[in-house]
Amino acid sequence: MNEKVCVVGAGPAGIIAAGIAGSRGKDVILIDKNERIGKKLFITGKGRCNITNNAPIEDFFDNVMKNKNFLYSSFYSFSNRDIINLLETYGLKTKVERGNRIFPESDKSSDVIKAFQKFLSDNKVNILLNTNVNSIDIKNRKFIVNTNNDEMTFDKLVIATGGKSYPSTGSTGDGYKFAETFGHSITKIRPSLVPIEIKEDWIKDLQGLSLKNVTLSAHSKKRLLYEEFGEMIFTHYGISGPIVLSISNYLYRYINDGIRLLIDLKPALDNKKLDDRILRDFELNNNKKIKNSLDDLLPQKLIPIIIFLADIDPEKIVNQITKEERLKLLNSIKEFPLNFKSFRPIEEAIITSGGVVTKEINPSTMESKLVEGLYFAGEVIDVDALTGGYNLQIAYSTGYLAGNHV
Ligand SMILES: Cc1cc2nc3c(=O)[nH]c(=O)nc-3n(C[C@H](O)[C@H](O)[C@H](O)COP(=O)(O)OP(=O)(O)OC[C@H]3O[C@@H](n4cnc5c(N)ncnc54)[C@H](O)[C@@H]3O)c2cc1C
Repeated sequence: MNEKVCVVGAGPAGIIAAGIAGSRGKDVILIDKNERIGKKLFITGKGRCNITNNAPIEDFFDNVMKNKNFLYSSFYSFSNRDIINLLETYGLKTKVERGNRIFPESDKSSDVIKAFQKFLSDNKVNILLNTNVNSIDIKNRKFIVNTNNDEMTFDKLVIATGGKSYPSTGSTGDGYKFAETFGHSITKIRPSLVPIEIKEDWIKDLQGLSLKNVTLSAHSKKRLLYEEFGEMIFTHYGISGPIVLSISNYLYRYINDGIRLLIDLKPALDNKKLDDRILRDFELNNNKKIKNSLDDLLPQKLIPIIIFLADIDPEKIVNQITKEERLKLLNSIKEFPLNFKSFRPIEEAIITSGGVVTKEINPSTMESKLVEGLYFAGEVIDVDALTGGYNLQIAYSTGYLAGNHV
């Protein structure tokens, strides 16, 4: 009789694990509490799904934040090329965008999910939806899975329940609880790739403003901590968007150090060039009030705040602005200051940092070193990466190893 395998969690990690196990002739049941597979996958990349990255697989390690060595075997066993080939086999066309990010040609994450559905059905995986796994026991080397509907017995078990962020997608951290019942340890769980709250109360006036081609830098009292160039957006509480999420990853260690964030709104211009540019704009608007003279240089919403930060009366006529005031204006544009208040909660984080301790999992098979026949895949493990498609690749690659060894 075929071995019976249960995969808990139909996210990308569970889908790959189940399909690969099915392709090896295992009798696989894939269980998810949701009404459909890949609920988080559906919202990835703002609904477009940044499937993976086109960089050489060896470059992926530079983008992994924690326990990169643990991922050697998985990344090389099932790489970015492998997931693209698999999805193409099931009818998905892909394209490469800025930063080597790979997306479906249709810009629809639902097309990625459709390809995965075909992959699962081709490999005869039984999918059990609307089924919450409440607990898992082990008796006579068999896994007893208790759900809201049933009790089922399996020879092998894969835990692919994801992390704790965006709990409405089903990732509510249940896997940590299951792992603990098997004696596994869980590292401290915290949000990663998460928006940042800002102390300044005028921040809400900037809500909705998105900035492209700016440099965001983070500073402790003593030094520059990190800087990143790209896009960001202001929200009612602070800042979000790609460069903010990336920078959030580096700031955890320093949150008690009074982090100061600075935005260089014109990174392409050095101080001299920006001053020349401001002087030119001043010449053109010589008789206008300063508040009406910066439209070509800055987004509307920023103008009153930049003028406030430069300590200039917004009603002042441009030809009366002193050199000192002009230089303060320049400084506010090159070093637009924001004071870090806190991170947004884990519910709003893209990724959960922390999870099942990697030392307790065999990196070549994803099998537990504590319980034979028990496997882990995806975000439930203590690994996480930056944005760019790397987190999904972690899910597929670890899912592949689990599916290939159950
Ligand atoms: C808004 C957002 C955008 C993102 N965009 C990208 C992107 O573009 N590219 C990228 O690489 N990464 C992205 N990520 C990260 C990526 O989505 C995750 O890393 C990835 O989904 C993790 O896969 P997983 O299979 O481990 O877990 P999940 O996708 O979280 O899947 C876990 C599944 O387990 C199920 N489950 C949990 N507990 C139980 C239980 N007790 N019983 C039954 N089922 C259970 C859940 O319902 C869920 O379906 C994004 C994340 C978010 C939140």
